[in-house]
Amino acid sequence: MSKPCPCTSKSTYDRCCQPFIDGKKSPETAALLMRSRFTAYALGKVDYLLRTTEATERAKLDREELTGYCKSVRCVSLKIISTEKGGPADDLGTVKFHASLQVNGKRQLHVELSRFVRENGAWVYVDGDSN
Ligand SMILES: [Zn+2]
Repeated sequence: MSKPCPCTSKSTYDRCCQPFIDGKKSPETAALLMRSRFTAYALGKVDYLLRTTEATERAKLDREELTGYCKSVRCVSLKIISTEKGGPADDLGTVKFHASLQVNGKRQLHVELSRFVRENGAWVYVDGDSN
């Protein structure tokens, strides 16, 4: 049984973000991590969101708050606009994306430039500028 991946990649979940969320493999690029985090928001995979946040930033996160946020928002679609570095040979990178969300029944377009670094070899999210 294969369902479409919530990151709207047009691939199926089991071939797209699931192996990352299940911890079976690590995303090779910052953009793939970005996609899988969008999927984790969509599915309420809070453990994955925490695990893929850089340590200092992770310390500021509240698990319950994050769980509540995942429940309040519907992640409709994701579009990666541009990426800078963030490849298999890089240690940092940025990803600009548009996330179409529905919050309390209202459509919202979330535009963010996110920063990613490698932590113990795996990509993690640091923070982002949204407008
Ligand atoms: Zn996906």
